[in-house]
Amino acid sequence: MDILDILIIGGGPIGLNCALEAGKNNLSYLIIEKGTIVNSLYNYPLYMRFFSTAEKLEIDGIPFISTAPKPGRQEALEYYQGIARQRNININLYEKVEKISKENEMFTIETTKRTYAARNVIISTGFYDIPNLMNIPGEHLPKVKHYYIEPYPYARQKIVVVGSSNSAVDAALETYRKGAEVTMIIRHDEISPSVKYWVKPDIENRIAEGSITAHFRSELLEIKEHAVVFKDKNGDINEIENDFVLAMTGYLPNFDFLKNSGIELQGECLNPFYHPETMETNVPDLYLAGVVCGGKDTHLWFIENSRIHAEMIVRNILAKT
Ligand code: FAD
Repeated sequence: MDILDILIIGGGPIGLNCALEAGKNNLSYLIIEKGTIVNSLYNYPLYMRFFSTAEKLEIDGIPFISTAPKPGRQEALEYYQGIARQRNININLYEKVEKISKENEMFTIETTKRTYAARNVIISTGFYDIPNLMNIPGEHLPKVKHYYIEPYPYARQKIVVVGSSNSAVDAALETYRKGAEVTMIIRHDEISPSVKYWVKPDIENRIAEGSITAHFRSELLEIKEHAVVFKDKNGDINEIENDFVLAMTGYLPNFDFLKNSGIELQGECLNPFYHPETMETNVPDLYLAGVVCGGKDTHLWFIENSRIHAEMIVRNILAKT
């Protein structure tokens, strides 16, 4: 079995960035990706717009040309998949890493297809695969969606959108504009301050004029076949008719995978341990890169501020060898 210098788990923007950095420094590497190239972006809402400008999403200084101030999903897919194609990045697709173990300075990486050996491993698995569940009765009904794709299925339907962050607000506005009757159930007492600055006035005005109903300081308690039950800010229990629930309650990294790989998880947010100068975890030669680093705090890292991880990691690997 060939021994790789680096095995990278996850072919998102940051995994690709790590691959480019390894290649530039003549380190042998392979990315294992369980879906397509930049699989999380592929699964984003079809018409989403990034909050970052194109140049903030660039990796390895490769220009990201967009005709709009903020690029959309399709442009980002073209950009990152184009890099993988043109730079001939070594990446195995539709192969999932199931287990990492270490013995005698060497990692064994078991996937759904085969076993690999590597001196170093980078986990850049993101956070978009596991929805943050509400754990309420009815959450597993088929009418409940934890991933919002596009508005058209919801025309003339009674929609409940749970949450008030970017994903929730985009889903509420898009479905409202295709003729859905939208009710938002929001735990906080306002729309999240992190909502894209050009979208926030739009949702606030739609709520103020009554086009979209918003229940602040409210909590969804139960989802039934044709209704939902929620507690409002006065503590009263309400039941309203409902066809679909868009549960935009966020996503979580795969904590079991991190734990089983030997990484310590700390504090309330289950922050995986890493040295901030090198991104090396408490397991020597096992590194973290990208948004997975934030634990439950998935707003801590994004593409633009985690692009530096690749350089930090490769510098550390080179220094050791
Ligand atoms: P990901 O892109 O999530 O990549 C992780 C990859 O690992 C995935 O392809 C996944 O399939 C793969 N994987 C997971 N587990 C395994 C396994 N066991 N084996 C093999 N492969 C595995 N950030 C910005 O900077 N600007 C923005 O405007 C922005 N907009 C966002 C909009 C949305 C809707 C969301 C959800 C996030 C946004 N982010 C944005 C945040 C963040 O930057 C992105 O989530 C980005 O994709 C993170 O890159 P990553 O490479 O760390 O992780």
